[in-house]
Amino acid sequence: MQPSYGEKVLLVDDSQAITALLRARCEAVAGVTTESAGSLAEVMASIESDPDRFFLAVVDLNLPDAPDGEVVDYILAHDIPVVVLTGHYDDAMRERILAKNVVDYLLKTSVHEIEHAAALVRRIRRNRDIKTLVVDDSRAFRQYIGGLLELQHLQVLYAENGREALRVMDHEPTIELVVTDYNMPEMDGLALIGALRQRRGRDELAIIGVSDTATPTLPARLLKNGANDFITKPFLVEEFYCRVTLNLELIEQMRAIREAAVRDYLTGLYNRRHLFEAGEVLYANATRQRQPLAAVMLDIDHFKKVNDTYGHLAGDRVLKQVARVLGKGLRRADLIGRYGGEEFCILLPGIEPSALGDKLEGLRATVAATRIGHEGQDLSVTISLGATLEPSDSLQTMIDRADACLYQAKKDGRNRVIIDTASPCR
Ligand code: GH3
Ligand code: MG
Ligand code: MG
Repeated sequence: MQPSYGEKVLLVDDSQAITALLRARCEAVAGVTTESAGSLAEVMASIESDPDRFFLAVVDLNLPDAPDGEVVDYILAHDIPVVVLTGHYDDAMRERILAKNVVDYLLKTSVHEIEHAAALVRRIRRNRDIKTLVVDDSRAFRQYIGGLLELQHLQVLYAENGREALRVMDHEPTIELVVTDYNMPEMDGLALIGALRQRRGRDELAIIGVSDTATPTLPARLLKNGANDFITKPFLVEEFYCRVTLNLELIEQMRAIREAAVRDYLTGLYNRRHLFEAGEVLYANATRQRQPLAAVMLDIDHFKKVNDTYGHLAGDRVLKQVARVLGKGLRRADLIGRYGGEEFCILLPGIEPSALGDKLEGLRATVAATRIGHEGQDLSVTISLGATLEPSDSLQTMIDRADACLYQAKKDGRNRVIIDTASPCR
């Protein structure tokens, strides 16, 4: 089934209390908008007008006008993936639900399960942007696994053996999950996992190895070779999905931690530590290639007055807004970070020396023209900037020189740019 790509979730339950709770949690946890229906008739009316607006439906199995799950078939027939909510569980029921090719089923026995449903909606929405690779020499098994991943809205690529998988990975560096068989011609799963780990760490790429019961030592070998997880054939769909979800969430959390370590929490710009780390690379490249590099230090003028007059929260808002304006005015190759309190540092590699003055003057003017709303008032601030293009003997020396120019700009009356061209600032 081709997943549908609307933006909304359809919630179907005859209990308004449950749809209200689901709606609130889906919006809060998954950040998606929802529509609700309380009966098969309402579902039909809602879907017939425009089925393409839904990417997922969370559906109560038993409705007054559809006591036996008919609503699930109706929704699936319109190519909208379904998560089933059910009031009770037994093996026969499980078989019946899974035979319908639903995304998953949840027991609506506790509030905890509502939370689980919202987390699932979030996962499915995010999966759309995630590429996965299925590696197996058996066409049937490849398609089976790929079909399961597609049901979860993941993008799926395929390879027949390890060697082909490596080729696919070279073309698709953003793949986040590989599910690989062990026994394959040309390059087996163990060799593939080893080769993949040379390229990308466990925190960037999740690998799930598929083993069979015939080789009891295989799971341990898969893990030791670098797999994040394994699953033994034959497996239950639920177990497969749990492992896929767990591993994708882990990668996501690792990425968030990595990001948090290099970012300033308030402005979202790079922090001082990362500024120096990445800055050293820019500095080394510029020196080696004899390319220009500008170092800029800038500081908000009379910022203490903003805090004293309007409060610390207003001050924070000003910092965020100034950071946003500065970020927008730069190219991708430029590096900007929060140096300290209300002080920022920018490194501009490859900038034409004759263009630096206009560039910085532009930033100064844009900040000065920005109105920052706070409790019904419009605040505005100005910035002073100091810069140097002189290569000096280290990045720190360049930053010190830019800082001396900034000091000069403050002394000369603020809201201005000073660049040390011929003679250094003192
Ligand atoms: P000048 O024009 O000379 O730069 O004067 P100034 O008032 O901007 O400079 P000063 O160094 O006297 O004051 C900076 C103020 O910035 C003091 C400090 O409380 C405030 N500040 C530093 N970090 C933050 C922050 O994260 N949030 C808020 N709201 N204020 C901050
Ligand atoms: Mg095989
Ligand atoms: Mg200041």
